[in-house]
Amino acid sequence: MTRTPFFIQTAQELAQTAQASYQRGWSPATSTNFSTRLPEANRFAISRSGIDKSICQPSDILQVDERGVTQPGFEGRPSAETPLHIALYRYSAHIGAVVHTHSIASTLLSLEWAPQGKITFSNLEILKGFQGTTTHETSHDLPIFPNSQDMEALGKEVITYLEQQTAPQFGLLIEGHGLYAWGADLAEAKRHCEAYEFLLSCLLVKGQREGARLSL
Ligand SMILES: [Zn+2]
Repeated sequence: MTRTPFFIQTAQELAQTAQASYQRGWSPATSTNFSTRLPEANRFAISRSGIDKSICQPSDILQVDERGVTQPGFEGRPSAETPLHIALYRYSAHIGAVVHTHSIASTLLSLEWAPQGKITFSNLEILKGFQGTTTHETSHDLPIFPNSQDMEALGKEVITYLEQQTAPQFGLLIEGHGLYAWGADLAEAKRHCEAYEFLLSCLLVKGQREGARLSL
């Protein structure tokens, strides 16, 4: 299959996003995955399974259908977490890209806050990084879901939750696993991911400082 100019550019942007995520320590040991919706109906671009994100190339980006099946002309298996990406695209036509990271902060804090089911962030300037937010005087919930290797079931659980929400939703944590963030396009999904990672890092450092000895 001949790659369209749109796909070629999309694959470059996704590969760059994966490499940048690795550089920030958010994609260790071949983990994490990155995707966008394609203009063709029910077609998505997503990173290949098991690739080292430090050297992710455009050739590591596959085209899949709504069942996560690799399309003719592309080699390899898509990420094992493809069903969760596709569940999000099915949930809302406004979601155009999904970014998934395995940072230290998202891994540790999703475990620590799992009993509460969410982390609430309030009164922070970085909250203006979320689409439609114009003031720091607000609160934003980041929900936490139990980890699962059954991505179809996890996808259903996530969509059931999202359908019950009235506030705009831009991400979620999976317990002991990592962060999912999404947006209308890849730029917005990356911005939401960075905002969440910044918030989680702040919370992690705050906990360390409160637990630290203040004198030598
Ligand atoms: Zn993952």
